[in-house]
Amino acid sequence: MKIFNTLTRHKDEFTPINEGKVGIYVCGPTVYDYIHIGNARPMIVFDTLRRYLEYKGYDVNYVSNFTDVDDKIIKKANEEGVEASVISERFIKECKKDMEGLNVREATTHPKATEEIPDMIEMIKTLIDKDYAYEVNGTVYFRTRKFNDYGKLSKKNIDDLRSGFRDLKVSGEEEKEDPLDFVLWKPKKEGEPFWESPWGDGRPGWHLECSVMSKKYIGDVIDIHAGGEDLIFPHHENEIAQSEAANDAEFARYWMHNGFLKINNEKMSKSLGNFFTVREISEKYDLQIIRFFMLSAHYRSPLNFSDDLVEAAKSSLERIKTSVSKLDEIINAAKSEKADDAEAALISGLDGFEKKFDDAMEDDLNTADAISAIFELVKFANTNVNENSSKEFATKVYDMIVKLCDVLGIKAKTEAELLDADIEKLIQERQDARKNKDFARADEIRNSLLEKGIILEDTREGVRWKRA
Ligand code: AMP
Ligand code: ZN
Repeated sequence: MKIFNTLTRHKDEFTPINEGKVGIYVCGPTVYDYIHIGNARPMIVFDTLRRYLEYKGYDVNYVSNFTDVDDKIIKKANEEGVEASVISERFIKECKKDMEGLNVREATTHPKATEEIPDMIEMIKTLIDKDYAYEVNGTVYFRTRKFNDYGKLSKKNIDDLRSGFRDLKVSGEEEKEDPLDFVLWKPKKEGEPFWESPWGDGRPGWHLECSVMSKKYIGDVIDIHAGGEDLIFPHHENEIAQSEAANDAEFARYWMHNGFLKINNEKMSKSLGNFFTVREISEKYDLQIIRFFMLSAHYRSPLNFSDDLVEAAKSSLERIKTSVSKLDEIINAAKSEKADDAEAALISGLDGFEKKFDDAMEDDLNTADAISAIFELVKFANTNVNENSSKEFATKVYDMIVKLCDVLGIKAKTEAELLDADIEKLIQERQDARKNKDFARADEIRNSLLEKGIILEDTREGVRWKRA
């Protein structure tokens, strides 16, 4: 697969550090409110990358943090008169609900900054020992100029940056050795959460969190580091400086950045009144449509969000679903089982659609072209599969559409259209779970089937099921 690597500004061939395994770190949201529709873009895009790599057979370790200590969280907590953790826990829960609606799978690990403080202190100690950091009055700074590669991701020249900083006099600036130095640890202020450290009570700097959490849950070297393009500088540049100085190893081999989402061609902002949370949007649109809409564009392009464009995405998705639904009816009513010779020839051509889909995804995750390949397949289905088709042929076409949509995290079948085979597969999974004494999973399957109107009955002869 080729990935446009922000570090090289090229589409580079992707080769993982360990064969068959990929470690991905995606900078997650700061949880002080509901996530907004812009935050949903990296979630959807990189969840799709993960799904694609898994479909290609990789074992993916997907790590995405929650920044749960931050000025905005503290401000809200003080306004409500509660602990900061009450706010962050509330919005982590809400964020997970939105993720579910967007069909964004939970990460392998979702570390929280506040639970990783000891490791952050360790990394700061290492940086101080190596002379890459220094403490003044309870604040620890990173000595930016000492890190020779500073600017390699954002292609910024350190001297240009320095002159830009000259007019910028922020409080506390005088104590820094150099205006470019950034904070690793800051002392507590009245009414703020804090942790003990060798430099006094305080809390970590934001950039440090990701360096530490990615090291802990993936390792010193990450295969793919991702996030929105606004994070390239200074956040990702600073992560590189901290991690490479501390670990003496390359930090991340591939850097992927999504373009920004705009609303009616304007930057989304609260002051312009064009700021939408995912939750607000979900009242108007099924979040599946939002996922489909986001994947209809290339992830690196800016994406404009407007009612017209979302309506267009809605009808496109509808076309896929209608086709799948029709195929389902044909399968259930098919008069013949086996494909005849003409159908067999068409079946052997189905791989061509998958190849087209794969080629698009291999080319820097071109989901827009991958969706076009699905549409070609839908057109093929609408032209070639009808009431006279065999069950085998219709099923093959059905499975291919559902499979490719699934790689994109798009649910092509409506819940009511669970095929008998799907139900039986789930029942078998439930039986296996019970055998392994994983009763929680067994109950989960029973309940999820029940929600879809499938009732299970455990009998002496085995499990029977019926539609309610
Ligand atoms: P934040 O909580 O602001 O740190 O953002 C969490 C993630 O959402 C980061 O990867 C950001 O780059 C990304 N993000 C924020 N706003 C937008 C936007 N308008 N379009 C696309 N991505 C965004
Ligand atoms: Zn980060």
